[in-house]
Amino acid sequence: MEQIEQQIINLREKLQYWEYLYYLKNSPEVPDIEYDLVMAELRLLESKRPDLLTVDSPSQRVGGKVQNKFFQVRHKVPMLSLDNIFDKSGFMIFDQRLRNRLKSNNDIVYCCELKLDGLAVSILYNRGVLVRAATRGDGNTGENITANIRTISTIPLRLKNDDNLPRLIEIRGEVFMSKTGFMQLNTRSKKEGNKLFANPRNAAAGSLRQLDPAITACRPLMFYCYGVGLVTPNVLSDSHWEQLQQFKNWGIPISTYSSRCTGSTEVLDFYQKVNNNRSSFGFDIDGVVIKVDSLRLQHHLGFITRAPRWAIAYKLPAQEQLTQIKKVEFQVGRTGIITPVARLNPILVSGAIVSNATLHNINEVKRLGIMIGDTVIVRRSGNVIPQIIGIVSSKRPENALQIVFPSQCPICCSKLEHSNIMLRCPAGLVCAAQRKEAIKRFVSRLAMNIDGIGDKIINQLVNSNLVTNPADLFRLNADILMNLERIGPILANKLLHSLKKSKKTTLARFLYALGICEVGYATAVNIAASYNTLDILITADIKSLKAISNIGPVVATNVYNFFTKSYNLNVIQDLLSPPIGIRCYKSKPAYLEHCKKK
Ligand code: NAD
Repeated sequence: MEQIEQQIINLREKLQYWEYLYYLKNSPEVPDIEYDLVMAELRLLESKRPDLLTVDSPSQRVGGKVQNKFFQVRHKVPMLSLDNIFDKSGFMIFDQRLRNRLKSNNDIVYCCELKLDGLAVSILYNRGVLVRAATRGDGNTGENITANIRTISTIPLRLKNDDNLPRLIEIRGEVFMSKTGFMQLNTRSKKEGNKLFANPRNAAAGSLRQLDPAITACRPLMFYCYGVGLVTPNVLSDSHWEQLQQFKNWGIPISTYSSRCTGSTEVLDFYQKVNNNRSSFGFDIDGVVIKVDSLRLQHHLGFITRAPRWAIAYKLPAQEQLTQIKKVEFQVGRTGIITPVARLNPILVSGAIVSNATLHNINEVKRLGIMIGDTVIVRRSGNVIPQIIGIVSSKRPENALQIVFPSQCPICCSKLEHSNIMLRCPAGLVCAAQRKEAIKRFVSRLAMNIDGIGDKIINQLVNSNLVTNPADLFRLNADILMNLERIGPILANKLLHSLKKSKKTTLARFLYALGICEVGYATAVNIAASYNTLDILITADIKSLKAISNIGPVVATNVYNFFTKSYNLNVIQDLLSPPIGIRCYKSKPAYLEHCKKK
């Protein structure tokens, strides 16, 4: 067999396997971008050797599969897929190709829509009543999911009365899950010991294709309509955009984030706007679908095997990528919690280079079944911290290594303790890592707001033992500071000024700055509102702490325990009495109000 022939066979097998996992199991092994790239490679080879093209090649078929457990539904009008483009030049080529086919150089009017990341469904209304719903399946045959679709509350069981209602209309759209709904579902599944979904798309697909509609009913599914299939008699407008508005009047949900754009510049602007706002939609999208608005022109342009010629999916930069774990290191947090952090081969994920990802705790490492050397799927959506959402087990190298959790603190060598699923270094401020984190919290913006003292300065101060607790910060002088790297007299004076200024603060800030376990800023504000002075708070018993609204027993105990430790009381005493003399006001000191107004 020729090399190219073998290559084509291999790529097809790979794609078919991935499609099986994606469409049937709702459990993809690789991110979409990997699938798309392999598909592009297959298309390229097939274009070089058209004689090797077969009708059953993944490049020629709509990918979905039909599960036997459902009754089948034959689509009278096939439900097709969309071709993809990934950059501006791809769109310009598409636009030019259409104008060539239409033999016109006029700007084309497009309807641009969000490409919702869920699964396509067809919903048939007979005289305005929902009578049948189906998945896309392989485009010709889908699965009958009528009972499940009926459980989605936003999908009308009966369309709003309108003289213009056709006798039969097949509404097409996407069933998907919001990010919040997905997170809540996974939290619930985790508690109940059920399988977790990799992303909202798989969760939506898995939820909709349930034999028991009662399960679907408990899942937070959403639906937006983006088109139409069969319609008799055809009473619809010639404009796709106007059709959508008509459906909205019948009570069918449509996305309001779509736009009619004339010519390429308006389309590209819309794409940019969507890309900029991507993280604000509350649900996942993976691109913008650009459709010729006129139905007459759509008809004229027609279809190719698996996709219409008149529409294209312009993909957004991938939020998931594959990379390899080089090693795993263990970080010590402010409260001594040890967190495993995966060091990755750097990779660009939705516009940012990702080289580290937290593995959270022992359970997460076990859940992912991760080993050093594994190829992992990294996801980063919006400004969210990158996450490892799965491993590609087929890519595990022979020399992959188990992740071994340490028994000693990697910084101070203290014997680690197990608390629940966490490993903890019990050394407190004796451990340099915890000391650094404690100082970082103390100087931070919401705490004492000590301007200019950043991580680099703190590392030097702690490493050279100049600062062992927050009170030591106020004992620094210009000579000591100027001995640190890149600190001259001007910066040293600025830092001293910041330290001095921070001494007038609020009780809430001071409380937050102390870094008591589980006392975030909002909790600190809450506690401070119930106590006039720190002296009273320090002597409060657990019962009165628990009586504060929104303070649970854990936080109350943490606060109480913190103030029973003589080490903590000594540091607080140092901070509050001369020569340091921090003053904690009940509310913002008047002079701070004054500064702000200026
Ligand atoms: P597609 O998802 O790229 O595009 C077609 C689909 O887009 C339609 O069927 C419809 O469901 C959806 N869509 C969303 N918003 C729309 C809108 N406004 N207008 C029209 N359609 C809209 O195509 P596909 O054939 O469903 O799937 C192929 C894609 O699925 C691949 O490009 C890949 O990204 C992904 N995939 C991934 C894997 C994997 O293993 N990760 C495997 C198979 C497929």
